[in-house]
Amino acid sequence: MIEERNSQEAAHQRCIKAACRETYGLKERLYVCRRCGGLLDVETSFAALGNASALRALWQTRLASFDVKDRSGVWRYRELLPFAETVSVVSLAEGNTPLYEAPRAAEYCDLPALKLKHQGCNPTGSFKDTGMTTAVTQAVIVGARAVICASTGNTSASLAAYAARANLACAILVPQGQVSSAKLAQSLDYGARVLEIEGNFDTAMRVVRELSEDESIYLVNSINPFRIEGQKTVAAELLQQLDWQVPDHLVVPGGNLGNSSALGKGFWELRELGLIDRLPEISVVQAEGAAPFEQFFAQHDKAALDEDVPQDFVPIEHPATLATAIKIGAPVSWEKAWRAIHWTNGRVLSVSEQQIADAKAIIGRDGIGCEPASATTVAGIRQLVQQGKIRAGESVVAVLTGHILKDPDYVMNYHRETLDFEDSSGERKGIHGTFANQPIRVKADIQSIMQVLDQLGEVR
Ligand SMILES: *Cc1c(COP(=O)(O)O)cnc(C)c1O
Repeated sequence: MIEERNSQEAAHQRCIKAACRETYGLKERLYVCRRCGGLLDVETSFAALGNASALRALWQTRLASFDVKDRSGVWRYRELLPFAETVSVVSLAEGNTPLYEAPRAAEYCDLPALKLKHQGCNPTGSFKDTGMTTAVTQAVIVGARAVICASTGNTSASLAAYAARANLACAILVPQGQVSSAKLAQSLDYGARVLEIEGNFDTAMRVVRELSEDESIYLVNSINPFRIEGQKTVAAELLQQLDWQVPDHLVVPGGNLGNSSALGKGFWELRELGLIDRLPEISVVQAEGAAPFEQFFAQHDKAALDEDVPQDFVPIEHPATLATAIKIGAPVSWEKAWRAIHWTNGRVLSVSEQQIADAKAIIGRDGIGCEPASATTVAGIRQLVQQGKIRAGESVVAVLTGHILKDPDYVMNYHRETLDFEDSSGERKGIHGTFANQPIRVKADIQSIMQVLDQLGEVR
């Protein structure tokens, strides 16, 4: 039997810095340690939970339930979360995302098989929903008057939706002219105050951190540890889909580095609980023009574990990539992501704009659409296979973070061979449509159409 427990009593917030480790109550509204400025973790005691097989069985049973919490792919795993059993949750039935076999993408990477966990199938089209459901639930618990975030688009679309569900005032700060119209359209429709600011994401992030010093304004970027709590449950959902067989490799894109941090924490805790006995190697892939974490990793590859995390992280002033969701030069969660990489013996790499664009088109050929940022994973896996860091017999899961319709202009430009990219030095570079699939103009009569089809040969 799983004992019911009031997890809020068994949990607290805690500074991640080894030299500090200050603790705070769950309802204290802060985003970094007051004493040393370090990032905060939510730590939950799992002591009262039953054994691993009882938990697995419980989560399996919930798949057949219509209860709001059980229908959510986040709250279904609520034993892992720092909320009381009685909490009323702000949910859009997030999670529950498919795990696809992707044979063409596998072939492209020179692997016999590859699985794609499509987090773009969340209610607002990105994985952000899995963290927003817990962060906005926490906003209600602490009595926030308004919720706020800085965003390259997806965080704001997600927050706007969950704030609307909770009937909370919501403001989002986005870099002017740098957010796709699809993402902006979502935020407007869900009723958020959309503030377009001069500067890039990092500027917007700096401003919202200052704003959130006002107690009534609750910040829900991934610096907020309650976001990370929701996002970590993806590890449990993925493992349940894999019948608790741990994959050898898990590959995710890296921007602000909340997602990789959350997955690391998720797998770590599931091992603590005895649900799994090893961790997948987590690899983070960045875009070449926005790769501060990759550069940091390259310098400290052999450094010792978390006791002594090197502090010389160098942000990038002018990040440049068409994968706007990861166009971030000063990732807030780098220290937690560093921990995840070390816990799991993973690595960090970067891929070019051309590699991202081609990988995205290949994922498309499997009938699976994703955002450019998500395609860094398949491009990265291809590189890791070529370098011998992923071997043919190993199992690999890539996390697709966003939906294809988030950025249709990118897709059309690739297929029309009009995609180009301005790098951080301002130089324009064309991106080749290696797998372009151009629309064809044809007269509206059967004969002309048949002629074109004959020329195409086999239609695939
Ligand atoms: C937010 C986002 C990312 C980056 O995730 P981080 O947690 O910031 O590293 C990648 N892809 C998409 C589609 C996103 O929305």
